[in-house]
Amino acid sequence: MIPFNKSHVGERELEYIRDAIESNALSGDGAYTKRCNSWLSKELGSQFPLLTQSATAALEMAALLTDLSPGDEVIMPSYTFVSTANAIVLRGAIPVFVDIRPDTLNIDERLIFGAISERTRLILPVHYAGVACEMDEILRIANDHDLLVIEDAAQGIMSSYKGRALGAIGDMGAISFHATKNISCGEGGAFLTSNPKIAERAEMVREKGTNRSKFFRGEVDKYNWVATGSSYLPSELNAAYLSAQLDAAKDITKMRLNIWDKYHLAFESFEKSGIVRRPIVPSECTHNAHIYYLILPSLVLRTKFIEAMKGKGVACTFHYVPLHSSPHGIRSGRVGSDMNFTSDLADRIVRLPLWPGLEPQQNYVIDSAIEILNRF
Ligand SMILES: *Cc1c(COP(=O)(O)O)cnc(C)c1O
Repeated sequence: MIPFNKSHVGERELEYIRDAIESNALSGDGAYTKRCNSWLSKELGSQFPLLTQSATAALEMAALLTDLSPGDEVIMPSYTFVSTANAIVLRGAIPVFVDIRPDTLNIDERLIFGAISERTRLILPVHYAGVACEMDEILRIANDHDLLVIEDAAQGIMSSYKGRALGAIGDMGAISFHATKNISCGEGGAFLTSNPKIAERAEMVREKGTNRSKFFRGEVDKYNWVATGSSYLPSELNAAYLSAQLDAAKDITKMRLNIWDKYHLAFESFEKSGIVRRPIVPSECTHNAHIYYLILPSLVLRTKFIEAMKGKGVACTFHYVPLHSSPHGIRSGRVGSDMNFTSDLADRIVRLPLWPGLEPQQNYVIDSAIEILNRF
């Protein structure tokens, strides 16, 4: 079976982990965490990045830092992972789901205004497949209505919008280093902000609500409980592994882009004949080849396609069950627009295997897919 995903393992991961072990300092914020933070700062242009245990943790930090109160509203897409909404619901606030654009499957910025109420506090765009949302318009709406912007850039490492790294554009951003993401340490993430006021509080929220980091820097003479917080620091073992991955981030992205481009070319004629729709990357976006997907004509054909590919030994997957129609989404959120594209496209999308190392088998994946599509 050709797996849908396989984490890339480079040459230095074990060496860095051994070094971390020998340092006898495995708790958070050691040398490797600092090394990862400087990489994020330099490569993404975020002034105050903080490594976390996951993007979920970074989104929870962002929700805490927004000081959401029960009943406050947050505008987000329904077509996303549960963590985007959980971070909000954990604060007693209400996710307000808005439909996606049919081209990028990102939140439709034209529908945001209509979803704003007196209780709206923030906009939470998700950069699906590492392709950016229309951030200029989202920032303009946020500015006009005095809202914060938190980017769920979990899939967005090494992607940009008009030259700016995803996750580093809004007030706060979340990146994921989960095993399913391009750059990974199994479970990991980062919280990004360039706002010094938010950064000062973020450091405390991440350290159980204490000013322990200031204490270590000698800025206070003892450390105290100063805010509502939790433990969002990863171990140095994870940071060491991640550090090796970040060193190779450009090469990993290049390998993924080659595979993505090859798929894109292979399915061009099927798009011309109307059997599939391929991903659309707007000209202001550079993407990181996180996902290669096809939009098939119907749910029935998608189910057949996934089954037939499985029969040929190739694992393909669909993606999100929209949150607005899932049991806890119905209980804890509301819709802020119609959901036509979300419901339709969620039923018809299929994702193909994409991981560095797939290259020798990619022709087989393509030939298998073409044979099945020719039957449609
Ligand atoms: C993967 C993902 C997350 C969660 O990331 P973790 O690091 O696993 O917590 C959140 N949002 C989106 C859009 C994701 O793809």
